[in-house]
Amino acid sequence: MYTIKTTEIMKKVMKDYFLSLESGKNKVAWCTSVGPAELLRSFGFEVYFPENHGALLGATRTAMDFIPEAIKCGYSGHICSYTTADIGSYLKKQSPLQKHYGMKGAPKPDIIAYNTNQCREVEDWFTFYADEFNCPIVGIQPPRYLDEVTQDEVDLVVKQMKKMIPVCEKVSGRKFDLDNFKKTVELSKEATLLWQNVLKTSTAKNAPISYFDGTIHMGPIVVLRGTQIAKDYYTLLLAELEENVKNNVGFITKAKTRIFWEGMPIWGKLRMMSDLFANNDSAVVASTYCSSWVFDKFDENDPWNSTARAYTEIFINRSDKAKEKMLTEWLEEYNIDGIVYHDTKTCFNNSNAKFGMPQRLQKITGIPSLIIEGDLCDLRFFSEGQSITKIETFLEQIEDIKVLN
Ligand code: SF4
Repeated sequence: MYTIKTTEIMKKVMKDYFLSLESGKNKVAWCTSVGPAELLRSFGFEVYFPENHGALLGATRTAMDFIPEAIKCGYSGHICSYTTADIGSYLKKQSPLQKHYGMKGAPKPDIIAYNTNQCREVEDWFTFYADEFNCPIVGIQPPRYLDEVTQDEVDLVVKQMKKMIPVCEKVSGRKFDLDNFKKTVELSKEATLLWQNVLKTSTAKNAPISYFDGTIHMGPIVVLRGTQIAKDYYTLLLAELEENVKNNVGFITKAKTRIFWEGMPIWGKLRMMSDLFANNDSAVVASTYCSSWVFDKFDENDPWNSTARAYTEIFINRSDKAKEKMLTEWLEEYNIDGIVYHDTKTCFNNSNAKFGMPQRLQKITGIPSLIIEGDLCDLRFFSEGQSITKIETFLEQIEDIKVLN
């Protein structure tokens, strides 16, 4: 059976990370997954990511125990299920962090920072906690849905980021240090480029890392960006995967089809989905989701502009036209036969099947697609039997098309 050996190291990296949050050595900042973690780390904060906790609640299938608690507080069951699961977990004072890492739960925040480059939901979600903990909250709001990001938008985001400095200084008790910021951006860039190369190993005919494995191995690039630990981890992972490519070893022997996954993972069904594709000789080799933490524009010599630009240019924050261009390039690079869109019930921000994109993209690329309905955490919105039938039929159709061509 194909396994990625570095996974064992990743488990330790993640455990050490979580335990460090409770060490009490440094102040704790809560942050959205796409930043501005780099700026926060430059002040010496330990950085905790509620979205990562949301994913944990989804993957452990505990989310549905907690969502009703948030609903009782007035948060709709149709909004982001990371938000509702996480708030419910807080209200119930229960978290998988207790069982898995022996922690008390999520660490108490000293400061909270959000970035609406992914959605407005994070601002609402984090504001709930700022009120609960009576804690300072700061945020940046990059302009959204742009075809092209110009210097005007970058300037605006730089100004917003700089406004965070006095609050961070006050809470951390440290003066802003440009050299620290540059160093953090440099480490973040190096880890993110390694992560990009990790993902790109699956452009190989025998792809060594699936999208499903990618969702697990992306843990450190989300929570430890800007640290040497993340850089070291991805150096090891990349070396293992490159060796596998050299030896022509992939996660599926002789895949009949290569699939691109568009949208969020269905966290509670990762294993089931991974087995489903594998049992149908289909390799899911790439995704928009795993690529979301590639910030190849980071530049330590221009830390403000480059981070502001990277945060604004990310896939989720762009117009459909820009997204279609990015997708077209990925589809070609990974030699994709079909796209599966996960139409995520509680996150329209990360669902691209609602405004005609599958049809437009098929016209541009000729690559067929399938839409499945589901959710990141709330499995009430996912029909397993129906999805299996749809996916198996789709894969058969693609195989037929390939034979005919
Ligand atoms: S992008 Fe979607 S899943 Fe992520 S925090 Fe926002 S609404 Fe929730």
